[in-house]
Amino acid sequence: MIRLKGIAAASGIALGPAYKVGKEEFTIPQDAISQGDIPLQIQLFEESLIKTRREIIELQKRISAEMGQEEAQIFDAHLLVLEDRMLIEEVISRLKKEKLNVAYIFSEVLKKYIDVFSNIEDEYLKERTADINDVGKRILRNLLGKEKKGLGDIKEKVIVVAHDLSPSDTAAMHKQKVCAFITDIGGKTSHTAIMAKSLEIPAVVVVRDATTRIKAGDILIVDGSMGIVIIDPDEATLKEYRKEEKKLRGVAEKFLAVKDKPALTLDGKKIEITGNIEFPEEVPAVKLHGAEGIGLYRTEFFYMNRKDLPTEEEHYQAYKYVAEEMKPHSVIIRTLDLGGDKFLSQFQIPHEMQPFLGWRAIRFCLARPDIFKLQLRAILRASVHGNLKLMYPMISGVEELEQANQVLKEAKDELRKLGTPFNENVEVGAMIEVPSAALTADILAREVNFFSIGTNDLIQYSLAVDRVNEKVAYLYEPAHPAVLRLIKTIVNSAHQAKIKVGMCGEMAGEPSFALMLLGLGLDELSMPPQVIPELKYIIRSVTLKQAQEIATQALKLSTGKEVEEYLEKKLRELIK
Ligand code: PEP
Ligand code: MG
Repeated sequence: MIRLKGIAAASGIALGPAYKVGKEEFTIPQDAISQGDIPLQIQLFEESLIKTRREIIELQKRISAEMGQEEAQIFDAHLLVLEDRMLIEEVISRLKKEKLNVAYIFSEVLKKYIDVFSNIEDEYLKERTADINDVGKRILRNLLGKEKKGLGDIKEKVIVVAHDLSPSDTAAMHKQKVCAFITDIGGKTSHTAIMAKSLEIPAVVVVRDATTRIKAGDILIVDGSMGIVIIDPDEATLKEYRKEEKKLRGVAEKFLAVKDKPALTLDGKKIEITGNIEFPEEVPAVKLHGAEGIGLYRTEFFYMNRKDLPTEEEHYQAYKYVAEEMKPHSVIIRTLDLGGDKFLSQFQIPHEMQPFLGWRAIRFCLARPDIFKLQLRAILRASVHGNLKLMYPMISGVEELEQANQVLKEAKDELRKLGTPFNENVEVGAMIEVPSAALTADILAREVNFFSIGTNDLIQYSLAVDRVNEKVAYLYEPAHPAVLRLIKTIVNSAHQAKIKVGMCGEMAGEPSFALMLLGLGLDELSMPPQVIPELKYIIRSVTLKQAQEIATQALKLSTGKEVEEYLEKKLRELIK
């Protein structure tokens, strides 16, 4: 029995034989062609583009029917690649110049495109590499007259093991036949993982060397909630997971039954469960899953995917819509968090050796008060339409907080002068995601109305582990004793100052941490909407006292692994 740890990408447990999917590599012949062959080669290219287009539209229709419009839209980007004039013209002009077969020319142009896109610093454009690769392979396959060795052809229930999967691979998996998948690489927030969640297929990604360690037909257990893969499990483990799988299926229905109830413990302690969003379009999903507000609205996505900067009016309209929709619940708007792994083409941010430690978030905003104040004014203006709050990302000390509040004061003065209404008492919070902020939380608490702990960054900064580097992903431990101690310090400082403290990093939405976080005294947990029903169910199943005991015990343990194992055990024991 071998246990591998990866990154949990889509929750659920599955059991079955491994089905290995090799990397789709084509051998592309390099043949010289004559002048007379050129028109025929161009025709071949055009036909393969048309065929590819037909295939994608067909796939889109199927996905739209089976999974919904939103998932189908992922393939719009693929259709755009097919219409890319630059790419098409480059293929044709090189074909005429170099007089080599079109499949070879196309593969060369494709390689160049992928190279350029994967080196771009704009996160959105970088992600497009996968789309270009995916659609490029389809075109090549059609140019070479090859049939796709389809994932859709799987006849029995299997667990797919691949180096990587494209979104169209994932879409081709029939739910009844592929019961889970594992990949060597990938990411929790890739389109492939998003599709897996929609299909409700458990998935674990970044399982190092999965394809070399797992043989076809090996019996596997995939725990998509914990990011665990077990190869060749012994009888006792098999029995345990079968029981767990059955239990999980039953429990899922129970989760949905409580989604609109408050997250109230058996002894009457209430904790707010709110949702994280990146776009206003996500508001319906947040409401549908029973969120009691929005605990994190990541506004930087508003700046992405466009050439110009959003105007104050555009900001205002978006925030007004979210505020009105969520009323009377609160909405916490996080001001622009640019930098780190989020780059925007509108700002020419110089290349930095360590962008996560560099010119990021509040540091950028304080250096560009024009951009910052415009956003603050829009938030203030929208504050009359609902229960809006604002918070600053990446605060590292009280001076930064004072400077940010000074810009806020100026924004308020300007609006007052103009006679524009806004909520004078709009609450202001600080994200606590830098260790220096955690350790001086008592000082920061005097300047704000609330805290929100950003564990995604707090973990990377306190453990010195780059959150986007696969090579050190094994060190990225939310349950590390250092992280738990920092959380405890932040909560205590907030409560001593009589302000509320929430958590909006991914840790807040992990079922295994829920009891400990409740016990540590968090007032609010904000998470991806899909997990809200489960978190509410967990909190409604215990007493605050039980949760406090769990937190006390967890804090006594020496390693992240021990904490995780302890919390998983407690969750299994207490949540029936
Ligand atoms: C965090 O750091 O935990 C957080 C919520 O912010 P982001 O993931 O956007 O950096
Ligand atoms: Mg952060």
